Amino acid sequence: MKLQISSGDRQYLLDLAAASPEQEVCGLLLGREGRVEELVAACNVARDPARSFEIDPATLLATHRNARGAGRQVIGHWHSHPNGRAEPSARDAARATENGQIWLIIAGGGLSAWAPRSADGRPAQFSPVTIEVV
Ligand SMILES: [Zn+2]
Repeated sequence: MKLQISSGDRQYLLDLAAASPEQEVCGLLLGREGRVEELVAACNVARDPARSFEIDPATLLATHRNARGAGRQVIGHWHSHPNGRAEPSARDAARATENGQIWLIIAGGGLSAWAPRSADGRPAQFSPVTIEVV
């Protein structure tokens, strides 16, 4: 599995995460067929934004609605790990479901992408997704 992202979008995410060293930042990935065409930043409304994220539900709804109108899909979401760990956390695994959405994580000055697989209600396992900067 592959995810294509432009170098400008990549840099935008790195800058956003670097500007928020205390709290996770988050948002949505729009595009088609494994290619990011647009990033939508969202407020992190998690109760503990230093260690988890929750995309503002209003942004989530509006983005899905706008994407449909524009012939795009929400292909996943992104969030940062201020602690620098470039892999999904136990909290991430506990809430991930196998729904075809890509998890993009910004940590330690880089990006990593993951696809959750879940079985029998157990916490998800994540398969790495190769990122191609285009
Ligand atoms: Zn996380």
